[in-house]
Amino acid sequence: MSDQIEKVKCLIIGSGPAGYTAAIYAARANMKPVLYQGSQPGGQLTTTNEVENYPGYPEGITGPEMMMEFRQQAERFETDVRDGWITKVDFSGDVHKVWVNDTKEIHCETVIISTGASAKYLGLESEQKYLKLGGGVSACAVCDGFFYRDQEVVIVGAGDSACEEAQYLSKLCKKVTMVVRRDVFRASKIMQARVKNTENIEILYNTETDEVLGDGQVVTGVRVFNNKTNEKHEIPATGFFVAIGHKPNTDIFKDYLDLDETGYIINVPGSSKTNVEGVFVSGDAADHVYRQAVTAAGTGCMAALDAERYLAAKDSEFEVTNMQY
Ligand code: NDP
Repeated sequence: MSDQIEKVKCLIIGSGPAGYTAAIYAARANMKPVLYQGSQPGGQLTTTNEVENYPGYPEGITGPEMMMEFRQQAERFETDVRDGWITKVDFSGDVHKVWVNDTKEIHCETVIISTGASAKYLGLESEQKYLKLGGGVSACAVCDGFFYRDQEVVIVGAGDSACEEAQYLSKLCKKVTMVVRRDVFRASKIMQARVKNTENIEILYNTETDEVLGDGQVVTGVRVFNNKTNEKHEIPATGFFVAIGHKPNTDIFKDYLDLDETGYIINVPGSSKTNVEGVFVSGDAADHVYRQAVTAAGTGCMAALDAERYLAAKDSEFEVTNMQY
């Protein structure tokens, strides 16, 4: 068993903008980072069509292409990018232990968590079909709203995110229909007031989605039903936005790290530090407010710098290269 244990100075979990940015900085600081990509290599951006709000790409770039470029940049400085899924951790000792696919054990001096969050979807077959086709289903108005300028869209949800996104969409789109499953909002009063006072937002209460309609390639409408009367009707729309919350991918850390009530890792304000020394967090795993590629990248940079300073202060006795023992 012991000769299978690998010892690394800096392990990065996750391959979105946060993880790759952490890798670029850690690699350039000679920390020999090892990055595990997880179940969705490239992270949430790989489900986005066109990214137009990441600085440095004046013509825009597709999400998958951008993530390939992140990866290439991290590998240019010899980040060891690996396939694999971290299934278990033990942060109880000085050395942080992680297990890959339940088998391979790695001992790490520092760990940077960049596992992100996953948008929740309704789970309807038609919703998933057009999501995969990139044909008009989205969980991010800021990312994709622009493509629906002067068009009609539907948004599902009644929390602060849904209100914020509806408000954002209302500035771009001709009409926004909000589909709310109860007769009340969950959102804060002020956010509710904003959507209620916006002329081109129509709110349908006690309403749920029956089907996302389309022509096989793109969304053309949404069939909804009133859950009190069971009455169905169709709403013409080219975009279907889902804003029913996100789930941070943090389950495996819950026995060791402080999480908030929805599972986001609580970091020391203004830094990437967690409550465990040597364990840092970046990206959406700790951010339910901004959730942008550029903010995730920024916190990835912070995590690598914090990890480097932690190692320097500790006067690390770890070898610089990853090694077997
Ligand atoms: P929330 O969990 O607060 O709200 C989710 C909403 O989606 C609820 O209205 C819920 O309905 C609805 N919903 C859930 N599942 C379904 C479903 N299957 N079908 C239809 N509707 C569904 O998530 P948010 O992402 O809105 O917010 C998360 C956290 O982030 C909150 O603490 C929020 O305050 C915060 N936030 C703050 C912002 C700000 O301050 N600017 C902006 C955005 C988020 P129901 O109410 O019936 O359960």
